[in-house]
Amino acid sequence: MATRIVVIGAGAAGLMAAIWAASPGADVVLLERTRDGGRKILISGGGRCNILPARMDESRFVSESPSHLLRKILRSWPLRQQIAFFEEEVGIPLVEEAESAKLFPVSSRARDVRDGLLTLARRRGVRILTESTVVGLSPSAHRWRIDRQDDEMMEADAVVVATGGLSVPATGSDGSGLRFAAQLGHSIRSTYPALTPLTATPSPFADLAGISLPVTVTARAEGMTATATGGFLFTHTGYSGPAVLDISHVAVRSRPTASPARIVVRWTDRDDEAWMAALRPSGARTVLGAVGAVLPDRLARALIAAAGVDRTRSLAHLTRDERRRLTDTLVRGVLPWTGDEGYRKAEVTGGGVCLSEIDPRTMESRARPGLFLCGELLDAFGPIGGYNFAWAWATGRAAGAGAAKRVLSRD
Ligand SMILES: Cc1cc2nc3c(=O)[nH]c(=O)nc-3n(C[C@H](O)[C@H](O)[C@H](O)COP(=O)(O)OP(=O)(O)OC[C@H]3O[C@@H](n4cnc5c(N)ncnc54)[C@H](O)[C@@H]3O)c2cc1C
Repeated sequence: MATRIVVIGAGAAGLMAAIWAASPGADVVLLERTRDGGRKILISGGGRCNILPARMDESRFVSESPSHLLRKILRSWPLRQQIAFFEEEVGIPLVEEAESAKLFPVSSRARDVRDGLLTLARRRGVRILTESTVVGLSPSAHRWRIDRQDDEMMEADAVVVATGGLSVPATGSDGSGLRFAAQLGHSIRSTYPALTPLTATPSPFADLAGISLPVTVTARAEGMTATATGGFLFTHTGYSGPAVLDISHVAVRSRPTASPARIVVRWTDRDDEAWMAALRPSGARTVLGAVGAVLPDRLARALIAAAGVDRTRSLAHLTRDERRRLTDTLVRGVLPWTGDEGYRKAEVTGGGVCLSEIDPRTMESRARPGLFLCGELLDAFGPIGGYNFAWAWATGRAAGAGAAKRVLSRD
């Protein structure tokens, strides 16, 4: 069967690529392993789909590829144009959640985003073949040969690989695109789970499971550091919440090294000075009274114990050393951790195909003309907050439009 453009993977990036490839009139087939596609969109944002950030801070992306390439790719489809596309072309009005600066569909239904993209793709003429798993990709004469499991092979003039990374394999992504890219000669930056919860075994804070609060977390390891302010959640096995997920890559990457990351938490917005003042003698006020006034009671008790201070002491009887120890714990308390939840719970995959091997305007492989790469399989990810969809939409659009330009210019 001869086809002009084959897009592999109907996730966020692949759906966008197919739409932009078909829009100028190219013949496009979208191959998807699962029964329906877009499964990560369905589970995103707790089923509400945090479709984009309300504001974009490019410096928050993590990549080992040259940063000017990352910026060039992101700027190829500015945030306001992405928003306009969803509202006007897909027909999904968006709303900002003020406290988090995240954008969601007004309907709060991730399904509307997934179905809206599938509908638009079909309307633009894309043929979507589901339960169709690609098992091999190779150049053949001046075209591409696409081998499928239990199905006839296909040929195409251009191929867009949008198979995602390795995170949450139950959604269909098993890293096959990374394998194809490596077999075709691309260098893959070592992959690792990112935006994943951390574990602590045994957990000194196990009985705090369920407590959540805003904090600032910092992770430092040899040559790496990350700081995030936001929600922190104690779990039965360790820690989660946006702030923990956002610094988790430093912890994950430090695990195989001799010195695992040191993670410290500022448990309130008070600094040393403010805590030293709050712990000054004040009538009969106890240590627990002072700390429990601004932190959940169980957490206040645990942190006071971690500082080696008697919570029932009155502030008047606190020694200078105890006051300093407690302040230290509250402002930069060390968070004990031993591992991470891995790809099973990672929202994205770190590492991937090096951006310097891709033309940033079209996402075409510099080594393999006619091969376009986009989405999570590339070496970049952003923080929690809609950044990873922004990356998938921008790279998917560029790859689809690039592939269409290539095949249509030959006509
Ligand atoms: C629980 C969770 C919540 C998230 N929430 C958010 C959020 O709210 N906001 C945000 O910005 N990001 C969020 N993310 C991240 C976001 O979902 C990803 O960054 C994004 O989906 C990546 O898009 P992609 O198209 O590159 O990959 P994917 O979405 O993983 O799509 C890849 C597709 O390719 C298909 N495929 C793979 N291999 C083959 C093959 N060999 N043959 C055929 N098909 C194949 C897969 O079945 C899949 O449909 C979340 C992730 C998770 C796991």
